Formats: sequence, structure tokens, C-alpha cells
Amino acid sequence: MSDSSSSYHSAHRLSPPEVLTSCRCWCGQETITFTSKTKENPYRRFYRCSIALKRPNEEHLFKWVDEALVEEIQMVNRKLKRIEEDVSDLRINVIQNLDLQKEMLKKLEGNMVKKLEENMVKKIEDKMASSALKTIGIVAVIGGALVLLWGRI
Ligand SMILES: [Zn+2]
Repeated sequence: MSDSSSSYHSAHRLSPPEVLTSCRCWCGQETITFTSKTKENPYRRFYRCSIALKRPNEEHLFKWVDEALVEEIQMVNRKLKRIEEDVSDLRINVIQNLDLQKEMLKKLEGNMVKKLEENMVKKIEDKMASSALKTIGIVAVIGGALVLLWGRI
């Protein structure tokens, strides 16, 4: 970064001030945009900490706008890349979860079908057993009646 801090005395403040997230001074103050009037950097815009105007002996933020913009774009690109990676990870997680849920549902379905079949078999067996008892009962009654009739004859 070339030094043109002496040029800010002749610079004018833009309204409203353009502030970048990556262009904040260590002291917490927002930066103000000025335009350089030096021979080396004519009309080149720069950010300057607003406190620096009142305290010229302290080291406060100075940054060329074009350089700050490049940094900002690089930062945004890095963030974008991270977001893309997060989305990719999220997609993989969702697919894995869906596969797991499918597997669990399949197992659950299999278990339910098995239980239903068992219940049905048990009910059929119970019914068959009770109807067999009824048949035995009827046969016994008819047999008894026949014995009674036979005894009277
Ligand atoms: Zn500052």
C-alpha cells in the first residue's frame, strides 16, 4: 500500500459514506471515503478511519477503495465456496438420512406384515379349534339322544 495519507487533508467526504465489512478500523470506527488529490494517485478513492482526522499521530485505517474491493470480492468468493461446500455436505447428509429412513421403513413394514400374518394364523387356529369343540359337543348330544331313544325301544 503506497502512502498518501497526507492527501486526505485535501480530500472531500462522500455522502453517504461507503463502508465495507472488511474495511473497518481496529478502533471500531467506520471508514469514510475520500478522493486522493496527490500527483501519484490522482482521483483514486480511499477509505480512511474518521478518528484519524482528529488524531493524525495515531495509526488508523487507510485503504485504497479498488484494493479493498478486490479483497471484498475475494472474501465473498471464499464465503461462497464455503457455502457451496456446506450445501454439498447437507445434500449428502439428506440423501444418507433418506436412505436410512427407507431402510427403517422397509424393516418396520416387514415386521408388521409378519405380525399380521401371525395374528391371522392364530385367529384361524382358534376358530378351527372352537368349531371342532362344537362339532364334538353336537355329536355327543346326538349320541346321548340316540342312546336314550334306544333305551326306550
Ligand atoms: Zn480508527
